[in-house]
Amino acid sequence: MKYGRTYNFSAGPAMMPEEVLEEIAAEMLNYRGSGMCVMEMSHRSKAFQQIRDEAEADLRTLMGIPDNYKVLFLQGGGTLEFAMVPMNLMKNGVACYVETGAWSKKAIAEAKKYGEVIIAASSADKNFSYIPDCSDLDIPENADYVYICENETINGTTYRTLPNTKGHVLVADQSSMFLSRPCDVSRYGLIWAGVQKNVGPAGMSVAIIREDLLREDLPAFVPTYLRYKTHADADSLYNTPNCWAIYCCGKVFKYLLKNGGLAAMAARNEEKAAVLYGFLDQSRFFTGAVRREDRSLMNVPFVSPSKEQDADVVAASKAAGFDNLKGHKSVGGLRASIYNAMPKEGVEALVAFLKAYEAEHL
Ligand SMILES: *Cc1c(COP(=O)(O)O)cnc(C)c1O
Repeated sequence: MKYGRTYNFSAGPAMMPEEVLEEIAAEMLNYRGSGMCVMEMSHRSKAFQQIRDEAEADLRTLMGIPDNYKVLFLQGGGTLEFAMVPMNLMKNGVACYVETGAWSKKAIAEAKKYGEVIIAASSADKNFSYIPDCSDLDIPENADYVYICENETINGTTYRTLPNTKGHVLVADQSSMFLSRPCDVSRYGLIWAGVQKNVGPAGMSVAIIREDLLREDLPAFVPTYLRYKTHADADSLYNTPNCWAIYCCGKVFKYLLKNGGLAAMAARNEEKAAVLYGFLDQSRFFTGAVRREDRSLMNVPFVSPSKEQDADVVAASKAAGFDNLKGHKSVGGLRASIYNAMPKEGVEALVAFLKAYEAEHL
């Protein structure tokens, strides 16, 4: 790795492509002859307008976003989306949620503040180690939407098949898998993602919402700023947006387009994940935490034989140049997040380290 950088397995904020960071560094003090850094630039300036417009256009190309969907650049992170979704989409006051782990539980708790939440399926019975069958959910006629966390960052599961929503609107939190594989946007009513996992710097989320879901008739208590329509009508420039994040994410969108788009990313991510899962599957020391067919390509939780040993692995890996392998505090164990920007060499180096550790401690 150049510049003395480490392989950073953080779940987020996480690694960004080195080439993108170099470009940002080169433009830091004087963005393309403007005489200023993007951080110093008015969000109403021509230069920034172009940055914003290109970011949206490139994201539309990358994902093949249909014309009847709006792309919004929002603040408040993923956590605010837990509230914005029910505030904006609960018309009848009822929604179905699939409970698959830590992040869907947070979404459920927040949605309960606004209306009735029906848990349509859950994997709580087995410690959220799998994705429940969602082919025939019991969805009441008046449910406003069906909500999923498409990749559970902490529990390490992902959907291979989207739920059968029986004609209801599908809402997906894609935070930790956004742009990791191709996505048929037309199957969703709303996709949202915090960008600090798989795309750019913290402080922004992207929402992709079908136009007919942009409601005017929201209850009076919903603040102006928390209405999707406010941001859609203003092209995400209702107030000062996170200009820096829009700029950095725009660079990543261009980088992804140049490197083969989402199909190429999916192939790379499959290959990288196979290196790590291949090792875990045959290890007699480390154990993966998730049912095979539901394993995330992005977040890989695993354990050693004991809690004490887990802590020792984290310390030893840190000394060997690998950062942030500790599992989330709520579940413990170990976790390697291997997003788009993690090079295959990083995963191979980690596996070599784990192999050597196993040989020494088995
Ligand atoms: C990180 C994460 C969130 C919360 O994001 P914040 O920006 O920290 O609020 C929500 N959902 C998923 C799946 C996440 O990984």
